[in-house]
Amino acid sequence: MTELTKLCKECFPAGSLAWTLKTKPRPAPYPGPRCATHWREKKKAVKAANHEKRVQNTYGLEAGEYARLYTFQGGLCALCRRATGASRRLSVDHDHATGEVRGLLCRTCNTLLGHARDKLAFFRRCIAYLRFPPCRAMREGWTGWYADE
Ligand SMILES: [Zn+2]
Ligand SMILES: [Zn+2]
Repeated sequence: MTELTKLCKECFPAGSLAWTLKTKPRPAPYPGPRCATHWREKKKAVKAANHEKRVQNTYGLEAGEYARLYTFQGGLCALCRRATGASRRLSVDHDHATGEVRGLLCRTCNTLLGHARDKLAFFRRCIAYLRFPPCRAMREGWTGWYADE
């Protein structure tokens, strides 16, 4: 009977009749005990639960709100619209002055917003910069390069 305890508790739940079938049991070297697949799933679930708790405590999101917001944003970073959060979960961006949660951003876009200090003027300058860059202005004989503050 000691063999029994070495089988994955999720592949072969207690009282399961799988035993009597000719299924070849997979080894369960991971705690639980669990097979590699079920151990991976268990770890993923624990991580997701921890993340959920953390965003609720840190940003005051309600249960399931992170997932709803993620879906609402189409599963992409709200700014670059490229990052999906698959390799690294999207961050909860919030207004430091008011605490209001604004949306989910990838790390790069979140850092960019921080660097811009949330200033709209920064982004207006970005647009002006791309449309009419200072070097072009200089070569065209302009005396300075301005963008509204
Ligand atoms: Zn298993
Ligand atoms: Zn992004």
